[in-house]
Amino acid sequence: MAAVSKTLVIGGGIGGLTAACALGQQGINVELIESKPDLSVYGVGIIQPNNTLRALDRIGLARRCVELGAAYPGWRMHDAAGAFLFDAAATDAAAPGLPPINGITRPLLHKVLTDGARDAGAAIRLGTRVAELDDRGSHVHVRFDDGREGDYDLVIGCDGVYSDTRRRLFGDAVRPRYTGQCVWRYNLPRPASVEWGELYFGPDSKVGLVPLSPTLMYMFVVTREPENCRYPPAELAGMMRDRLAAYGGGIAELATLITDPAAVVLRPLENLLLPAPWHKGRTLIIGDAAHATTPHLAQGAAMAIEDAVLLADLLGRGGPLPPLLDEFMARRFDRARYVVESSAQILAWEMEEWAGIHNPDARPGQLLHEATLALMEPY
Ligand SMILES: Cc1cc2nc3c(=O)[nH]c(=O)nc-3n(C[C@H](O)[C@H](O)[C@H](O)COP(=O)(O)OP(=O)(O)OC[C@H]3O[C@@H](n4cnc5c(N)ncnc54)[C@H](O)[C@@H]3O)c2cc1C
Repeated sequence: MAAVSKTLVIGGGIGGLTAACALGQQGINVELIESKPDLSVYGVGIIQPNNTLRALDRIGLARRCVELGAAYPGWRMHDAAGAFLFDAAATDAAAPGLPPINGITRPLLHKVLTDGARDAGAAIRLGTRVAELDDRGSHVHVRFDDGREGDYDLVIGCDGVYSDTRRRLFGDAVRPRYTGQCVWRYNLPRPASVEWGELYFGPDSKVGLVPLSPTLMYMFVVTREPENCRYPPAELAGMMRDRLAAYGGGIAELATLITDPAAVVLRPLENLLLPAPWHKGRTLIIGDAAHATTPHLAQGAAMAIEDAVLLADLLGRGGPLPPLLDEFMARRFDRARYVVESSAQILAWEMEEWAGIHNPDARPGQLLHEATLALMEPY
């Protein structure tokens, strides 16, 4: 018998939906609440390295992601003019039967995870938030903002980087930190020549092309920007094109296709690491709520998915809850910290280079390679 029988998952993002699916598959009753009125997500894509696919395979969802996405062998590097530099093949060491990397649109990933959660029996309630959490020792009594109430053996906060659950448990001391970089993203038709992920290194920015299907890809542009990059929405397409002015070849051609300001997805890069433990009593937080990373290793969602799948495995084992939560922390904290800190280090080296500072110790490519290999190890 599982260690808990009734759980509440707060947040219907990647981590929450994965948790709902994985817990349901362990025979645990799951209720998931999402504050938005629907389970929508913005339309660009996400990179799934091989360890993400390993975790999704554990709950039977990896192959569906690969079918709906675009697998590719690694990254092809270029200078800003478009000249080829070298290929960096990715690894499939975590899950040898699955691709080294898969690109998928965020809406399709959400659909795969939502279907998985519903198939596993999770009840999903939209437009709902927690009004009050009261840990009574033997259970958590929850009052919702729609007046309903319920009792749960475990509450799992998966409510993202601005987590309300984290604030309720641990206060405001740990908050997201803006890093000075923003990412501009835009979906584009995928030319036949884009068979790998493509990276282009400019003087003060970098550009990536990520396959999402046989005919679709997205472009990302990572730039230095003032705090929180809040710009007039109507100007975003022009501003994204301006940031590609230093690039030649195929990127300059693709820039001309960036015309719809509403289709530009601009996000500030923030990070956060909550010290261990991420639980208090019968409430635990996972995913970005506990450890938000910048995307320099493409591992944020991977860590949320791994958290959720491991948690369900441990709870499914049965026994008293406290040692299972201790084991969860022992197996997750250092790994999540490694991702947040390695990503922040790569970002810091980029910021130095873009500011014209020569740092002889900077080795972003080597760290990216080492970290990718390290994350394929079991945890
Ligand atoms: C620019 C960028 C690019 C990225 N690229 C990648 C990538 O290629 N690969 C990768 O692995 N990761 C990537 N990530 C990271 C990834 O998007 C996140 O790590 C992942 O979405 C975290 O999932 P989560 O479920 O923890 O949080 P979220 O996805 O933020 O989901 C939180 C959910 O909780 C809901 N919610 C919030 N508050 C409440 C509340 N009070 N009550 C109920 N519901 C609530 C929200 O509406 C949302 O649905 C990227 C991130 C950024 C910013």
